[in-house]
Amino acid sequence: MKTAIVTGITGQDGAYLAELLLGKGYTVYGTYRRTSSVNFWRIAELGIEGHANLKLVEYDLTDLSASIRLLQSTGATEVYNLAAQSFVGVSFDQPVTTAEITGIGPLNLLEAIRIVNPAIRFYQASTSEMFGKVQAIPQTETTPFYPRSPYGVAKLYAHWITVNYRESYGIFGSSGILFNHESPLRGREFVTRKITDSVAKIALGKLDCLELGNLDAKRDWGFAREYVEGMWRILQADQPETYVLATNRTETVRDFVAMAFKAAGIIVEFRGKDEGETAVNTASGRTVMRINPAFHRPAEVDLLIGDPAKAKAELGWEPHTSLEELCRMMVEADLLRNRAGYSF
Ligand code: NDP
Repeated sequence: MKTAIVTGITGQDGAYLAELLLGKGYTVYGTYRRTSSVNFWRIAELGIEGHANLKLVEYDLTDLSASIRLLQSTGATEVYNLAAQSFVGVSFDQPVTTAEITGIGPLNLLEAIRIVNPAIRFYQASTSEMFGKVQAIPQTETTPFYPRSPYGVAKLYAHWITVNYRESYGIFGSSGILFNHESPLRGREFVTRKITDSVAKIALGKLDCLELGNLDAKRDWGFAREYVEGMWRILQADQPETYVLATNRTETVRDFVAMAFKAAGIIVEFRGKDEGETAVNTASGRTVMRINPAFHRPAEVDLLIGDPAKAKAELGWEPHTSLEELCRMMVEADLLRNRAGYSF
């Protein structure tokens, strides 16, 4: 039986990956941070909290000695590093913390691997945000990077240090450049889930209007449960490598807004432009979405679309869930939660 460490078990991907690995018979050490109130709602929703093979351990990625002890005490042979300050918007307000966690944090794990057991396989959660001001369409493993946020810059350091440890020390360090992936377990600070949760509240009469920033941003959105399968395949490959996981379809935030309202039975029409743009419920005439300039970022990423051809050819990985299905799944989950009077 294999043993894996999943850092960031309280996050979206950590929960889905733990579910996948437990299903494959792994013993999983899922790490969470010491906080005043730990939140295990995602693993609870997936029904794996309390699973006999899931061990929850306190750990902070910024601590080298804790990283060494984590590897020593668990005897894990695979480490999936999903922990990060992962929100682009926050990275503009907390650039140093973001650099320490998201950039230097993975180096602690790589150093720990070098010290404790260089045979441990390491997965780094890289991101399409590293492409930022895109240099080619679609983006592949060889597209030059141009990050546009402190988050993207920090992730780029982590990405290259993983490649460097692979080349310098022969460590099995692989990097998955994952494009946006969403699910009903996505945090509410992220735009898709903010939209589906707000749409559910508006449909149920609990909210009047959704406020957003840049509606023109184009993203390549996939389903998180399928992407964690890709992470696992990346670590089962013969050689450590870098892979893009994406859907190769891009849509605007505006499209996602319309899709989410439609999934809740509301047809909207967009009126006005720029900061005066609104979405109006065609049945009631009410404004259900408006722009709030406070949500604009100092530097934007306009267009992301990834080409996952390498992952398909070498790992047999490809996404199957359409954006419409994904959006419907998220709206339905948020309708259920909000009807029941709660929302994570
Ligand atoms: P989440 O924000 O949902 O989860 C991040 C996790 O990291 C949380 O469990 C968080 O714990 C943990 N964490 C934060 N800081 C530390 C720290 N100092 N020490 C230990 N753990 C910490 O992200 P996702 O699950 O969506 O994403 C997983 C990874 O994939 C992240 O690295 C993200 O940047 C990357 N990624 C995600 C994409 C996406 O579209 N979802 C796209 C590309 C890359 P806590 O609950 O305590 O905050």
